[in-house]
Amino acid sequence: MPSTSARHIISINRKLLCKVSGCSRHRRGLGHWCNFHTGRSQRYGSPLGSVLRKKAYEVEYEQVRGLIAKHPTHAGVQSAVAWIGEWLSDAALGNVVPGQADMRRLSHHNVSPLQILTTASAIFAYHCREPRRLPDDADRLTFAIARAVLLLAPLDYRTSYLSGKPKSICRPLKATTLRNVGKHLRSVLGVLFIGIVDELNRQWQQHKDFRMSLGTSFTPHQSPAVPFNTKEKA
Ligand SMILES: [Zn+2]
Repeated sequence: MPSTSARHIISINRKLLCKVSGCSRHRRGLGHWCNFHTGRSQRYGSPLGSVLRKKAYEVEYEQVRGLIAKHPTHAGVQSAVAWIGEWLSDAALGNVVPGQADMRRLSHHNVSPLQILTTASAIFAYHCREPRRLPDDADRLTFAIARAVLLLAPLDYRTSYLSGKPKSICRPLKATTLRNVGKHLRSVLGVLFIGIVDELNRQWQQHKDFRMSLGTSFTPHQSPAVPFNTKEKA
């Protein structure tokens, strides 16, 4: 229960408009944003964040999947897979690890370390290609990576009774979990994410050079040859 002075500050704050440009709603509690933008911030790591559907990054996902499949013995890939595997096992055993309950859920649904690595790397690659759609501002990229990973398995449901009737209610992902899991992935695997994106960019450049080479003119770039003057010769 907030103290009298805190209630007073909250009542003043609620009279102010949300800090998001163009939003005409009033602020919630002691925060800078209205209910709507606070909700967005808690789900997507920024009041300006929005849902990132798998379709948006499916190209990057397939490219990362192909790259990892081609280099299964890459030291970084192997280390990352082992590290994620340990994280999942610890979570399943109930040890204190970031996002323990949700990582245990992934483990129970047999989500593999490789799936987690591929998904997280694909989101990072998407950010590198589309920084305006998925910027690394506030916690937007961190939340997007964690959200995509933690949704690799169905969310848990709890039963609630409404008017005496049981109803299944989905347990949403918590903002603290998204932040902790996303930061943990980025802090440990960030170097590998960058290496994967560099390799994808190199392959893309190679493909572009190949396409350009196909269009190379058969005539060297020099002054056009003067045609033979057959009349003078005659
Ligand atoms: Zn707002």
